[in-house]
This record gives sequence, structure tokens and C-alpha cells, in this order.
Amino acid sequence: METNQKNEQKKSIMTTVFVAMGIVLLLCILAISLLGKEIYQLKKQWGTIRSDVTATDGRAEVVEEDNSAEVPEQSAPETVITEVPGEESVQEPEAKHKVYLTFDDGPSKQTEAVLDILDEYGVKATFFVVGKEGENVAKRLQMIYERGHTLGMHSYSHDYSDIYESVDAFRADFLKSKQYIYEATGVETKVFRFPGGSSNRLGKTDMNLIVEFLKEQGVEYYDWNISSGDGGGTLMPVEVIVENCTKNIQRYDTSIILMHDSALKTTTVEALPQILETILAMEDTVILPITANSQPVHHVIKPWEKPKEEVTVSKEEDMTVSQDTEDKEEKKEISK
Ligand SMILES: [Zn+2]
Repeated sequence: METNQKNEQKKSIMTTVFVAMGIVLLLCILAISLLGKEIYQLKKQWGTIRSDVTATDGRAEVVEEDNSAEVPEQSAPETVITEVPGEESVQEPEAKHKVYLTFDDGPSKQTEAVLDILDEYGVKATFFVVGKEGENVAKRLQMIYERGHTLGMHSYSHDYSDIYESVDAFRADFLKSKQYIYEATGVETKVFRFPGGSSNRLGKTDMNLIVEFLKEQGVEYYDWNISSGDGGGTLMPVEVIVENCTKNIQRYDTSIILMHDSALKTTTVEALPQILETILAMEDTVILPITANSQPVHHVIKPWEKPKEEVTVSKEEDMTVSQDTEDKEEKKEISK
């Protein structure tokens, strides 16, 4: 009898031990799986933090003011690099120095020559075009687009007194410019360059309001931090243009170079091969077209106060190189 009882006791102890062990085992499995999930989450978080840090690296750079003599008072403001809203375009290649060649005021009878040189060196650029009439105009706009360059708006009329008269006047001209590029090429461009730059004091309207309007349209504007100096009334010597375009590139991470695509600016075309050769020989430097992923250079727009009666015309964007002269050139060319 006693042995039987003892056996019964042993059995029940064993059962309890087994059940307890089973519970412990289950708890262990549960704990391990929970811990695993936790570790995965932590890993994911760490990854996000790391990519954030990489993305922010070097982004908050403030480009130093270019104090070279060629930059007139009007357009020698501080320049700041800010983030671009668009995200759909292709990632730009990594390089310490990114250079963007921009040609304003085209298309012109020089456009094709500029495109041929760019092709020869395998370089893409950005053309901020203005409204022009004539049978060659649409053809040249298409050529710019088809050969892989960026088309941007530079207003339709390029007439300071008209576009900067009011936000409404600016809007009307902006829509005309956008439609003009779209009709010729099917491109809905999202990039803009202000005639005279964003910090100009050429009109009656607060530029902050106009910038706000562009933001609403999902359009980014690009100023420049390097000027070729070819915008004035006199023809700039080739060596000076080359020197202006290349001497400061190593100082900046982002260089946006202002040049002109104009019938009268023959030395700009002559200088282009040498400019490209010089930049392409620089270490850790790439030449790129502007896209939604490019970091813009913005001239700092000062708080608005009414301008004085007499407005000065920026040397960078001299009226003599703009609409009227080029239209005449264009008409002459067509009538030939
Ligand atoms: Zn212009």
C-alpha cells in the first residue's frame, strides 16, 4: 500500500514538473519572438536616422557672396541654397562640386551652335527661354528638349515694367510662357528664372509675393552664384568669360552659372569649349542640367519697401540683350 501511495505521489510531482517546464518553454519562445520583433524595429529606426543624417549632410550650405567686380550692386545679394519641392526626378550623381550651366534669353540663332558644342563634350545644360515669334522658334525649343537639356521659363515678355507691375501681371505672363514652351515641345516645365534675378528691384511689386505665387504653382526658381559677365551692353572678350565662369567653381558645392543665348553674344559661344574643357578637367566636379532634384541658389530677397522713382537696370540682365533686339534679329533672319 505504502509503495503504491509513494508511486502516486511521484507521478503527480513528475506531472507538475513537466507542466511547469512546458509553461517555461512556451514563455521563452514567446519572449524570443517579441525580442526579435523589437530588434527589427530598432534596426529599422536606426536605418532611417542614418539616411536622414546622410541626406542632411551638406544641405544647409550657404553660398558665399560673389564679390567679383563684374557683379553689379543690384545683383550681388547673398545667395542661399534651399531645398527643392519636387521629388519625382532622377537622383543626381555624387560629386563634391556640381556645376549647372544656364543660358538665358534664348532661343536665338546661336542656340544650335551652343547645342552642338554641348553635344561635342557630352554635357547637358539648362535654357531659360523667353517668348519669341518666328518659324525657327518652336524648332529651336524642340531641339533643346530633344537633345536632353532642361527647358525653363524666363518670362514671356522679359519686360520688367510689365511682369513686375503686379502679381496679376506676373501671373498672366507666367501662364503665357508656360503655354508657349508646352505648345512647342509638350514639356510642362517646373523651373523658372526671374529676369534680373529674384532680388531685383526693377518693378513695383514685392518679390516675396511673386515667389509665393510660383510656390503655389509648384515651380522652383533658380538664381545664379556665378556670372559669365556676358549680359552687359558690350561684347565681353572670350578670356574674360572663361575666367569668370571657371575661377570660383572650386569654392562652391553648387555653382549655377549665368550665360546668355543671344544672337549678339557671339563671344559666349566662342568661350564655351574652353569653359567646358576647364570644368571637365576639375577633380570631383560634374556638369548637370537643372532638375527637380537640383539645389537652387536663391538671392536673398530683402523685406519690401517701395523702390525709388528711377529704376536701374541690372547689368546682368541688360535690356539691350533682351526682347526687342532679339526679335529684330529674329525677324531679319526670317525675312532673309
Ligand atoms: Zn534675361
